[in-house]
Amino acid sequence: MATPTCSSCGAPDDGEFVNCKFCQKAISAELLASAIPCPRCRAACRWGKQKCGACGSWIVVSCVFCGALSPHNQSACLACQEPFQGAIERKQARTQQVQHQQNMQTAGVVGNIGASFLGAVAGAALTNSFYHHGDGDSSSWTSETDDFVVNTNESDSGGSDWGGDSGDSGGGWDEG
Ligand SMILES: [Zn+2]
Ligand SMILES: [Zn+2]
Ligand SMILES: [Zn+2]
Repeated sequence: MATPTCSSCGAPDDGEFVNCKFCQKAISAELLASAIPCPRCRAACRWGKQKCGACGSWIVVSCVFCGALSPHNQSACLACQEPFQGAIERKQARTQQVQHQQNMQTAGVVGNIGASFLGAVAGAALTNSFYHHGDGDSSSWTSETDDFVVNTNESDSGGSDWGGDSGDSGGGWDEG
């Protein structure tokens, strides 16, 4: 592939701008035809660039539907053909529809999960009680859990009573 050069002066194409930096003319008619004008500084930016080579402004917009980048001067997404005009409103309307459908589906899924979960719990309870009678380790696990919860509650309340909330109950000694 031949190195692209300016069609006017033959200078090497730096790949950045539409206009030749030496002769200030369009490097090629194709580049000029597809040039994207920078929305900020109006420099002609090359097709396929995402930012203006002169001022760094974004010259592409992201499609709200598919996320593809299209030059800002296009009227529709290059990837999914969705027109940019009113795209956000359309997206919101569709999202609400989809969410409604998903909510319906989720309700069904959760119902199924709930049913199987209950089934699993019932099975686990049966299994536990089985081991509870047959094996000392399992029963100690169960009682440990219970004790742990009770102890936590007691130590929590005791700690706050005796100065744990020193900042809040500064007058804790008043009662004595
Ligand atoms: Zn040139
Ligand atoms: Zn610019
Ligand atoms: Zn798109």
